[in-house]
Amino acid sequence: MDSKSFYAKALTLMPGGVNSPLRACKYVHSEPVFIENAKGAYLWDVEGRKYIDYVFSWGPMLLGHQDPVVNAAAHAAVDHGSSYGASCPGEVLLAEEIQKLIPSMEMMRMVSSGTEATMSALRLARGYTGRDKFVKFIGNYHGHADAFLAAAGSAASIVPGTPGVPEAVISHTLLAQYNDLEAVKRHFEESGDDIACVIVEPCAGNMGLVLPEDGFLQGLRDLCTEHGALLIFDEVITGFRLAPGGAQERYGITPDLTTLGKIIGGGFPVGCFGGKREIMEYMAPVGGVFQAGTLSGNPVAMAAGRAMLQRLQECDYPALEARTKALTDEMAAILRAKGKPVYVAQAGSAFTLYFSDRPVTNMVESGQCDYDAFAVYWRQMMDRGVYLAPAGFECAFTSFAHSDEDFEKTLEAARAVEF
Ligand code: PLP
Repeated sequence: MDSKSFYAKALTLMPGGVNSPLRACKYVHSEPVFIENAKGAYLWDVEGRKYIDYVFSWGPMLLGHQDPVVNAAAHAAVDHGSSYGASCPGEVLLAEEIQKLIPSMEMMRMVSSGTEATMSALRLARGYTGRDKFVKFIGNYHGHADAFLAAAGSAASIVPGTPGVPEAVISHTLLAQYNDLEAVKRHFEESGDDIACVIVEPCAGNMGLVLPEDGFLQGLRDLCTEHGALLIFDEVITGFRLAPGGAQERYGITPDLTTLGKIIGGGFPVGCFGGKREIMEYMAPVGGVFQAGTLSGNPVAMAAGRAMLQRLQECDYPALEARTKALTDEMAAILRAKGKPVYVAQAGSAFTLYFSDRPVTNMVESGQCDYDAFAVYWRQMMDRGVYLAPAGFECAFTSFAHSDEDFEKTLEAARAVEF
């Protein structure tokens, strides 16, 4: 069966034919291809077409697909049983590895997705401080728990007032533009005693990649400390990607709580939240803040995640960052030569090519980019075997599996695009 036939069948079985909205490729006026194999830097669809991957499952596969060490760890774990619903050595070993790389996570809890991690961290912040309100940034995406679906980024930005989210739930969500410290200050001036936490993507990845301006993260840290609120870094994308110790290592700011996902699962469904011991001990069964999970600490996911983190410590992050910069500089130059203004945002192995003649520092500016031009670009890159995220407001990822030849082929494809 080809992708078209699978999609036709999928449309009869799943809303929009997908299990996550962006996969429907609506924002690039296209249809999904169905993938049946992935190895290294490549994907193959059901028709055998090969693509150079820049999505990597939306971030997790920083080593590329089927890294032999991660694969072997997962296989070995499966041979001991795929789920126990009981304590297992793998969860302790992965937690130890995470703590080594992110020392601010003195204690942590494993969950099964980024959404669960952020949702639970918010509940913990509220339980710990006894306050209900929190600050989130317009265009940041923290998964799909109700409280975060106010001016959320990624696919959620298309449905700003998501039906099904009670007004009462989001009435506690205070919004600010990303990089606008003054707006956060105003929230604290007006409601400082009621704000449990500020949650932020320390380098935002869900309205395209948007870098924190100098002083922004430090300003948030200071405001939270001053007002007794917790600072939560949502490092679901940035964790282990921007540096082995995530954005907090790269920018030198220590949050009270951190949420993780994607890379820590080595391609399996894992999330994690953690932070200061004193705060984490508010979690049940030590404290009263409830959270639980049938598959939390799943032995296969724990083994894959640990192997992934161990492998990453042998990898040359600065070299990948430099190679990614050379790639994106050239991609931008090619587009400019075709008369398309481009602004490139890059941090480590994450980047966005905005079709814009101005820098993008927040959601308003991201929303002003030429997404129709991106859609034309995306479709022609796909036709030439380059798999980019199917929306202009997402970031792209390079991996340690990409070769220089892969980058050269990507540039060849870009040179052939016609607008
Ligand atoms: N937080 C951030 C920053 C994300 O980018 C995402 C997903 O892309 C999430 C949370 C939610 O993670 P998940 O899709 O695993 O629920």
